[in-house]
Amino acid sequence: MALLDAETEHRTQGGPGLPQQRRLVTDLPGPRSAAILARKADAVPAGVGHTVPVAAVAAGGGVVVDADGNSLIDLGSGIAVTTVGNAHPKIAAAVAAQAAQFTHTCFMISPYESYIEVAEALNRLTPGDFAKKSALFNSGAEAVENAIKIARKHTGRQGVVAFDHGYHGRTNLTMALTAKSMPYKSGFGPFAPEVYRAPMSYPFRDGLTGPDAAERAISQMEKQIGAGNLAAIIIEPIQGEGGFIVPADGFLPALADWCRANGVVFIADEVQTGFARTGHMFASEIFGVVPDLITTAKGIAGGLPLAAVTGRAEIMDASHAGGLGGTYGGNPIACAAALAAIDVFENDGVIERAQQIGTILTERLTAMQSQDPRIGDVRGHGAMIAAEFVDPETNAPDAALTAAVAKAAIAQGVIVLTCGTYGNVIRFLPPLSIGDDLLIEGLDVVAEALAAA
Ligand SMILES: *Cc1c(COP(=O)(O)O)cnc(C)c1O
Repeated sequence: MALLDAETEHRTQGGPGLPQQRRLVTDLPGPRSAAILARKADAVPAGVGHTVPVAAVAAGGGVVVDADGNSLIDLGSGIAVTTVGNAHPKIAAAVAAQAAQFTHTCFMISPYESYIEVAEALNRLTPGDFAKKSALFNSGAEAVENAIKIARKHTGRQGVVAFDHGYHGRTNLTMALTAKSMPYKSGFGPFAPEVYRAPMSYPFRDGLTGPDAAERAISQMEKQIGAGNLAAIIIEPIQGEGGFIVPADGFLPALADWCRANGVVFIADEVQTGFARTGHMFASEIFGVVPDLITTAKGIAGGLPLAAVTGRAEIMDASHAGGLGGTYGGNPIACAAALAAIDVFENDGVIERAQQIGTILTERLTAMQSQDPRIGDVRGHGAMIAAEFVDPETNAPDAALTAAVAKAAIAQGVIVLTCGTYGNVIRFLPPLSIGDDLLIEGLDVVAEALAAA
């Protein structure tokens, strides 16, 4: 890419040339972070929580640096967003250039080419050898809302099925689609109607084959809703917030086949799994499934807010003019960032890097599991790997252990995130710009935290 000059060339690890090291110069939070977090408590509502008690001032490669000069290992990527690396030089350059050109026209007022280029790239990169179209939005939840709108308009039906452990966002419709009450839904109802829930394939806990789990879900949909009332089913190919649950082989294709046979739109929510994260451009590829619509966000633009719905042209074209859009959707700076990120995804070997990271994570966590039966399951693909913590006697979820391990790792300067319906999963989502040394050091710290817990 022409924007990459010699000055940025030497730091393609991303970020503002930060030393790639874990270094704690204070307890966390240090005094500067503590002062900023005290202001947060006064100025920002408690409902907007935070996981790591530091105020960030810089990030890149595999580290986040805080206001006191502590350098933390980043195994979370701001929830799978900075996949290409934080402040990646190609993205920083593209954003700066676009910001100097124009910051906004509203695509619905005067369109611009970069939005169309992003749509063309998504239409080309997503699974499916058929005519596709894409519409751009600001957040994952907004993309999901629009995918449901489009599916309803296309089918003339209202019902939507989401799955146990599913997560689709925090707006009203996406809260309804999301499974878990605390913290996402509790007290925030009433929720949008005509949303139904079906059982997920969760091999570690249900022991079902993919086809058997699909049969269970399909039978429930047919009995409780009726295929003729269903506009869409929406599912994460690998569930994110719900616990990095990887469905058994055959589950997703069986659901997709049933959808096709019954005129139901199959929506893959790839907001967390998309863009190289799983060692594939999209996780649907792993399972051999071709969705009718795909929602994307998170990793799409290296940290700039952008989201998309991509899918079969005849479904995407169902809406009348003016029915889709939004003031900021497909903002030109976010589109410039997305084009730079897509250039990195396609040309800088990051898919291969995600696979290498997956091998390191899986081998290490599996070795830990063989020594420690409190790790009940290790699962995931590419740079999206999790460990599920259990009581070894009963396999019951151990949320307290999980929270203790995560807290101890963070206190030692390693950013790890938890997830799972039962809060008993630690998920690893490192930026693909992290070096092996830092990744292994981060895992060492997690292993020590587990041994001490
Ligand atoms: C994060 C997430 C969303 C919501 O995205 P926001 O940008 O936070 O609105 C939706 N679906 C999945 C699978 C997600 O991981």
